[in-house]
Amino acid sequence: MPDITARFDGKRVLADLNTLRAIGAYKTGVHKPTFSEPHLRSLAWLAAQLPAAGLAATIDGIGNVLGTSAKAGPKLLAGSHLESQNHAGWLDGPLGVIYALEAARVINADPGINGAVEVAAWCDEEGHFGSFLGSRSFAGALTEAEIDAARDRNSDRTMRQALGDAGFAGRPRLQAEPGRHIGYLEAHIEQGDTLESSGLKIGPPHSFTITSTGSVTKRFNSTIEPVLSFRTSRICRDEVSGATRIPDVNPIATRVSTAPGT
Ligand SMILES: [Zn+2]
Repeated sequence: MPDITARFDGKRVLADLNTLRAIGAYKTGVHKPTFSEPHLRSLAWLAAQLPAAGLAATIDGIGNVLGTSAKAGPKLLAGSHLESQNHAGWLDGPLGVIYALEAARVINADPGINGAVEVAAWCDEEGHFGSFLGSRSFAGALTEAEIDAARDRNSDRTMRQALGDAGFAGRPRLQAEPGRHIGYLEAHIEQGDTLESSGLKIGPPHSFTITSTGSVTKRFNSTIEPVLSFRTSRICRDEVSGATRIPDVNPIATRVSTAPGT
């Protein structure tokens, strides 16, 4: 493959990220719960950008945005999500979507490159209605009954109602075609300062281990102790030096539930 690094436009990437940040801006971040007006506007904005990257845009029956290419050759799927946690940071999700969009713009337009990048924004990765509903739908692992039961944890609006309000009800849910993609890539903002403090610019997670420790605290204890604590580690490889390091990271859990509810 020719060296196409110079064709990637960092200013365009930043402008796109700032466009998404302005939709649903809250203080220095954003507030875009799943199927809120700013979230829906962000989905529509992304769908409108995809044709210029050589992609046919679809918003499907679960609210996933998918850009598909008719170009011959192998295809890499890349993306992330556009809703946010409540009152959250502006790069969690959009970074992976816009990196994918920029890669698609450059790679798909070049007839000398065999293959294409396809772009996805998975709906409800942040768990307002359930657990990874959009990406599980694409993977063929989400039942209609689960959608029937899904409710917004903040407003109690049902997912069916939200899909209807958004105009997505009745649309087919897109599913992965076996063999279509050579892989999936999700670039993600680091949720901590480990890379920066280690002098690393980028690092792929090679492995995660999650260990739960601690004990359940009885309801009427006078002191409150953590019910569970999590410790993770991952190995990051510095793409420049090739050095391998093992920094500690702080995980963010979208939702933790325990049972029985003592
Ligand atoms: Zn995220």
